[in-house]
Amino acid sequence: MSLFNKLIVMSLPVAPKFLVHIFAKKYIAGSRLTDAIKVIRDLNARGMCTTIDLLGEEIKNRSEALQVLASYKEVVAAIDQHKLDSNISIKPTHLGLKVDKEFCYNNIRELILAAQNFGNFVRIDMEDHSCTSDTIEIYLRLHKEFSNVGVVIQAYLRRTGNDINLLAQQKANIRLCKGIYVESRQIAYKDPQIINYNFTYCLEKLMTAGCYVGIATHDEKLAWQALALIEKFKLDKNKYEFQMLLGVDEQLRDLIVSAGHRLRVYVPFGEKWYAYSTRRLKENPNIAGYVIKNIFGLH
Ligand SMILES: Cc1cc2nc3c(=O)[nH]c(=O)nc-3n(C[C@H](O)[C@H](O)[C@H](O)COP(=O)(O)OP(=O)(O)OC[C@H]3O[C@@H](n4cnc5c(N)ncnc54)[C@H](O)[C@@H]3O)c2cc1C
Repeated sequence: MSLFNKLIVMSLPVAPKFLVHIFAKKYIAGSRLTDAIKVIRDLNARGMCTTIDLLGEEIKNRSEALQVLASYKEVVAAIDQHKLDSNISIKPTHLGLKVDKEFCYNNIRELILAAQNFGNFVRIDMEDHSCTSDTIEIYLRLHKEFSNVGVVIQAYLRRTGNDINLLAQQKANIRLCKGIYVESRQIAYKDPQIINYNFTYCLEKLMTAGCYVGIATHDEKLAWQALALIEKFKLDKNKYEFQMLLGVDEQLRDLIVSAGHRLRVYVPFGEKWYAYSTRRLKENPNIAGYVIKNIFGLH
């Protein structure tokens, strides 16, 4: 962690909320669903599709999880009502994974059913390593029953090669990303180059197996390698998409879109934007550096 990133994170507890908002607003659509709808309309008009994330994770009890489920159902209905090109991304701990696994499974299942009624799709985000096995297990159960569900796999995890073998056999729908949580060296690769090798290795395996892949990265080296694989396998446009976070490297985003590839933007919104932004910055101070670089266009 650089001294600069450390300083930013140390100053967070005393930073006024409006200051954090200045940093966060580029990356978060707003606190209300109507804010997200506005952002998505604009992205759709510029040829990008989206996935909506209702901010929050690790709820404390069943009633909070059920509230989250109800809010997500509203999101799915609003996507249909406003004719938006968007699906949703959910976090298992937000829907009760740490309260009770079966309860979480049932909540996700209910949401997938609601999405299915509108012809929509649910992506299950991947959280820290304590959730990996449960998330994959829940996904595989749901994948047997539904075609409108996908999961996320993190290239930085040492276990990912094995997980990919299993998921590829099942023709899973995968978003592949590097992984955002700070994990120990026992759990995750620390060398950025190894993470990149693993990303490409896993991507190739998924493409070879005929899985639908969401290539989630802002790392141009990885985007380039993904493009080379797409060409090598002559991959049909309905077998992959690129995915990027709202507000991050919009130039790369536009380059990918103008080259004719499908690109999905991850659009977070919600009342909990402040808690979410400060916790994320504390958890992974590298993001602070990224944010500063992005704001000042230092690429
Ligand atoms: C659509 C999408 C969904 C994701 N879902 C998950 C998930 O479910 N689970 C999970 O663990 N991780 C998720 N991630 C995060 C991912 O794991 C990485 O932490 C993140 O994308 C940074 O990795 P990178 O491939 O962009 O490469 P990096 O080398 O980390 O970043 C490349 C460049 O992108 C810019 N950048 C990257 N991230 C940010 C940021 N947050 N803010 C500002 N600038 C940034 C920086 O300029 C950086 O130099 C997701 C990412 C995307 C794009």
